[in-house]
Amino acid sequence: MSAPAHAAPSMQAVYLTGHGGNEVVCVGPRPCPEPAAGEVRVRLHTATLNRVDLYMRESGAGITHTLPQTMGIDGAGVVDALGAGVSGCAVGQRVLLYPGVTCGQCEFCRRGQEVLCTSMQLLGEHRDGTLAEFITVPARNVLPMPEGWAFEEAAALGVNHLTAWRMLRTQARLQPGETVLIFGIGGGVSLAGLQLAKAMGARTIVTSREPAKLERALALGADAAICSATEDVAQAVMRLTDRRGVDVVFENVGAAVWGSALKSLVRGGRIVTCGATTGDQPGADLRRVFIRQLQIYGSTLGNLSELQELLAFCSQHGVRPLIDSRYPMAQAHAALDRLASGQQFGKVAVSLV
Ligand SMILES: [Zn+2]
Repeated sequence: MSAPAHAAPSMQAVYLTGHGGNEVVCVGPRPCPEPAAGEVRVRLHTATLNRVDLYMRESGAGITHTLPQTMGIDGAGVVDALGAGVSGCAVGQRVLLYPGVTCGQCEFCRRGQEVLCTSMQLLGEHRDGTLAEFITVPARNVLPMPEGWAFEEAAALGVNHLTAWRMLRTQARLQPGETVLIFGIGGGVSLAGLQLAKAMGARTIVTSREPAKLERALALGADAAICSATEDVAQAVMRLTDRRGVDVVFENVGAAVWGSALKSLVRGGRIVTCGATTGDQPGADLRRVFIRQLQIYGSTLGNLSELQELLAFCSQHGVRPLIDSRYPMAQAHAALDRLASGQQFGKVAVSLV
């Protein structure tokens, strides 16, 4: 049976119809978007999953959105159509996506800090995302992929590596020769942090509850590893740093590690956090914070200019995101379960072709 002539073209997508588990995640047809003026349409090849996809699946609380909504925050593909007035971008170009659609008008956008935009819309959170055959975004949101990269590597760069880049480079201002402690190695952001910190010339100490993940991190170039299932992390850090402590803590685990993170810092040290998987209300330990003059930075994603800097840095230093596993779109549920399991080492990729 053929569709009526007036029906809008459709595409396959992974979309949410509600909240609370995999049964609200559907794989099926959604309307194929047309690029408006100033927009491009991208034929997506790969997206990789992020913690926020699980958050959207389970609750989406506090994130303004309407259902049904296509999931996925990062992605890479090929420019497929141009809206009116688009220049500097060609059909057939291989691109990765910057995940934030910003207003361009607020005080933060005007000074190039669009990551702080008061009306930021993130793909897969506030608007349709990347787990689909097609997406439309403003032309400024697509960047050329590095030569020779796979689509899944490029997709992963736009969220996890961008987040880690802003945490280390912009917020903590990590310097060559400094020591950085990275909690929970194996997830996308922490692995990006390890890769980037090494390439910046820092000494890296990683933690995990799983010895196998620590072995893999050491093989990737981590300088020391602490098994948090059997060792007190702060005590181990003091042993590894000649009782000095680390210059920077890189953290997205939250309440479960916050206390030992603060105890692991040298006087005047910096902690930068981009997540709170285990809870967001740890004891603040304020006396330690002011007496030892610790600096605490919050961070999430990054600016478009930071993504451009990151692309140049990765090309220069040979940094490429690590892929844990690949799933076809029809197995999106299994891909989400893989991420939820915490067993992954690197990014869980979903193929969209
Ligand atoms: Zn703005």
